[in-house]
Amino acid sequence: MPADPRRTIVVAATPTSNGDLHVGHLAGPYLAGDVYARYLSVSGRPVTYTTCTDDSQSYVLSTARRRGVTPESLCATSATAIGKSLEAMGISVVGLPPIDGRYRDTVLEFVTALHAAGRFRLRTVRLPFATRAGIFLYDGLVSGTCPICLAGSSGGVCEACGHPNNFDELLDPRYSLDPTDPVAYREQTLLVLPMEDYRDRLTAYYKERERLWRPHAAQLIRELLAGPLPDVPVTVPGTWGIPAPFPQTPGQVLYPWIEAMPACMYSTWWSLAQSREAAAATDAHWRAGEEPRLVYFHGFDNVYHWGLVDLVLLMAHGDRYALPVSNVCNEFYELAGEKFSTSRNHLIWGRDLLGTVPRDLVRFYLALTAPEFQRTSFSSAALHGVTTALLVEPWNRLAALAGPPPGVEAGQALPTTQAGRRRAATIVERFRVCYELPTYSLSRAAETIVGQLGRLCEAAERLAATGQRRPARDGRPARDVTAPVGDLLLEVRALLAGAAPILVDVADRATSAGAELRMTGEQPSTVAAFELPELPTLPAADGSGNGRAPAATPAASVHI
Ligand SMILES: [Zn+2]
Repeated sequence: MPADPRRTIVVAATPTSNGDLHVGHLAGPYLAGDVYARYLSVSGRPVTYTTCTDDSQSYVLSTARRRGVTPESLCATSATAIGKSLEAMGISVVGLPPIDGRYRDTVLEFVTALHAAGRFRLRTVRLPFATRAGIFLYDGLVSGTCPICLAGSSGGVCEACGHPNNFDELLDPRYSLDPTDPVAYREQTLLVLPMEDYRDRLTAYYKERERLWRPHAAQLIRELLAGPLPDVPVTVPGTWGIPAPFPQTPGQVLYPWIEAMPACMYSTWWSLAQSREAAAATDAHWRAGEEPRLVYFHGFDNVYHWGLVDLVLLMAHGDRYALPVSNVCNEFYELAGEKFSTSRNHLIWGRDLLGTVPRDLVRFYLALTAPEFQRTSFSSAALHGVTTALLVEPWNRLAALAGPPPGVEAGQALPTTQAGRRRAATIVERFRVCYELPTYSLSRAAETIVGQLGRLCEAAERLAATGQRRPARDGRPARDVTAPVGDLLLEVRALLAGAAPILVDVADRATSAGAELRMTGEQPSTVAAFELPELPTLPAADGSGNGRAPAATPAASVHI
């Protein structure tokens, strides 16, 4: 693939700051986006990976009320916890930007420009209203029945079928914090963004890009485009969020989902500012003239928002902004066959798992079982058994066999043959197919590690059995002896480069020890000898393992 000098901006769905991240979150957009960003980086392509907390969501308000804390303090503690979990997992964002004055200014400039351009309309709608609490209900403040699939749903969007519900569309609405509070409907005049105005551009956009989408998400987009497209609320009569700056909607706040695009522009700018690469204007890196490659990673339940609403918000600015190249959508990652649930304590926090299992092994197992095309399930026992058998044991066997032979110093150039170079290039190519769009697949990348690892183990064992690794009589290997060793090391290096976006710590150790890990197809005529670092071993899931019994296995803390 020719080098693409354009910067790729990888965005992982903005986490709501109403708690820490659990393993289901980490296994979804955060790991997938991270591996993609690291792949681009190891391929020599400029990339910025970013996200930021979504503080204005109504879920912050509802969770804060449940816990008896202020939403401001919940945002602060959540942002700290989320930042630590991302770091513990090795997610390569430079950090979470502060939700400060510059953030709010960016959002306000984004929406006031649309308002001034006449993109919004006033519309009087019926909204559910909790009569005792005296508040209008939307998104996380309301629960009811999805009018499309009849599943239980919150307001805004249905997690089960992915369809939106706006205004009074949710059936049997109840106040989520007090289901006994009688709900009535009251009229309110809001500003809305009519999505139907953008049908032609949307249709053309998806015609061009649908092949880049996974089938389930593409199906939902087709379903949504087959019917009338909804009006997206721009303002809501809420108390939490950024006050709407429009004279027609006094006392209202911006609908939280309207913030996502300017939030990501701000987050991109902030991330680049940390390395002094940011432009002066906050939205500069998203402008069409910059030709950024925007790639979003998010869950199926966000297809409507990240796939349609946010796209229309960019389109509403005319040709000012680039449009995303693709949305990579994951399904739900479950625990023991059931959805992760904070309210039922059916979950494993990322911090707890990463406190007991080395993160390379967590990242490998979550990649191997990534919910890319359908729901998959996490199991602590499987993590231990599968990761040990498929990764750690063969990896460490290879590490013991494939290092520099006696008499060869680390860094010494070993010759390679044309056949060895061809095999190494083939390994790189198989990884490249896993990491490039539209064939991007974490689980196939993890399977490729397993497959190549097994093959190279066998090759290393054959080489050891032939005695070619023994030094010649003078203590130094002869040239014809080192060529097979060089070929093996070249292939091991290709495996390591392909595995590096997932196994970040072992790759870092190898790089520090002098291994050059780049995902290029051109393979050199010599390879510098290096030691393949070992992976840490895991205690058995039941604590009966190899002398490093865990204080508590992750499963032990889960109430099912
Ligand atoms: Zn539904």
